[in-house]
Amino acid sequence: MSATSLLALGMLGGCVSMGPEIPERPSVLLITLDTTRADHLATYGYPRKTTPTLDAHAARSIVFDRFLVPMATTLPTHTSLLTGVHPLEHGVVANVKHGGQSFAASEELVPFTALAKAAGYSTAAFVSATPLKAGTGIEEAFDTFDEGKGPSRVASRTTDVARAWLKRKRRARKPFFAWVHYFDPHAPLEPPPPYDTWFERRDGIERWLADRQIERSERRSGLALEPLETANLYDGELRYVDDQIARLLDTGREAGWAEHTVVIVVGDHGEGLGQHGQSGHGVTWGEQLHAPFWISSPWHAPRRIDTPTTAQDVFPTLLGLVDIPGEERFLEQSSGVDVLAEPSGRPILHLASSHQATLGAEAESALTVGQWRYHRSHDGAEMLFTLATDPHEQKNVVEAFPLQARVLRDLEKGIAAERAARGSVLGTVREVSLDPERIEQLEALGYVQ
Ligand SMILES: [Zn+2]
Repeated sequence: MSATSLLALGMLGGCVSMGPEIPERPSVLLITLDTTRADHLATYGYPRKTTPTLDAHAARSIVFDRFLVPMATTLPTHTSLLTGVHPLEHGVVANVKHGGQSFAASEELVPFTALAKAAGYSTAAFVSATPLKAGTGIEEAFDTFDEGKGPSRVASRTTDVARAWLKRKRRARKPFFAWVHYFDPHAPLEPPPPYDTWFERRDGIERWLADRQIERSERRSGLALEPLETANLYDGELRYVDDQIARLLDTGREAGWAEHTVVIVVGDHGEGLGQHGQSGHGVTWGEQLHAPFWISSPWHAPRRIDTPTTAQDVFPTLLGLVDIPGEERFLEQSSGVDVLAEPSGRPILHLASSHQATLGAEAESALTVGQWRYHRSHDGAEMLFTLATDPHEQKNVVEAFPLQARVLRDLEKGIAAERAARGSVLGTVREVSLDPERIEQLEALGYVQ
């Protein structure tokens, strides 16, 4: 094909595309990275090589530099990804259960999985932790739903099972939608050898940690770790997962589906790791909200996008790049946008996990608008940060900018009310019953209150 006709093809798609024509039903592989801070990947500027495979994959992808999740909590964000709506719309604002109430997304919602299944895709999920197991609603429309036993499953085992399924998917057969979820960077930080000592050398990371005012972090075991120890173990977990993702992606080359499959890599939230005095996640500080997100497509040129984007936007953005029959209904349901078609950015509303919001001074909700982040705690206390000059949210300027704070407070309230109202239109959250073993597993991960 000549350069001119390639260019013409790109113009037709409305986005820079390359290579052969896009099939109407491309396969889609979704990889979700639990508890993965964007800033611990070289793709997002980290000085260490924690994820060489993912970084090489991102270099061939459309990378979103400012992906900020609506909640730093596993099930709410994953439900937003798959349904294209905010947690206030789907109603899952905790990991399955909180305060005697249990949550599962409304059955009125059509997840992307159901769209794919109706379009003739075979669908499969391989998840690695209890907050995403069957019974949460997340399993809807998956023909194969593999969750393993116990509270969590290590990356090598999840990869083994996913590979066995993906190896059978040959080019030109029925398209697939497969979702593989990795959980290892979640606490406890116990990377297997040799990853447990991979990052022990002194390599200048102390300055990076000091810039973020990272403190000793308390682990649930009662152990307190120095910032460098925490980073070493966390980075070891990332390095371990990265090697497993290399195995997973090799399947595409071996089985021959790589060249007709779109791959989405996305994190569900970050992790405190001792920043802002938080070891885990569930609140609205940037390091907990900012996660990796990119889409690799055989038909689109790599690029970087700095427009703020969030979980609800992931599938609308994918559907702007490729077509799946019947996608209109999903796009109508979604409150997300195709970020590539709407590059101006929209305010992003963040919520703290309901159980964490009751613990005290943590912010209950936040709003990111351009370079501003506004936080409001459950007792009404406010904070404001200017991210351009203060990216780590260390200097609260709420008193210096009272007008901006007021505008953002009104905007936040308005967006929250709009989302909640849309939720009641879409259908309210339904109750789920959990067996005692499932509750024990959630407790083991520190979730159920
Ligand atoms: Zn998670």
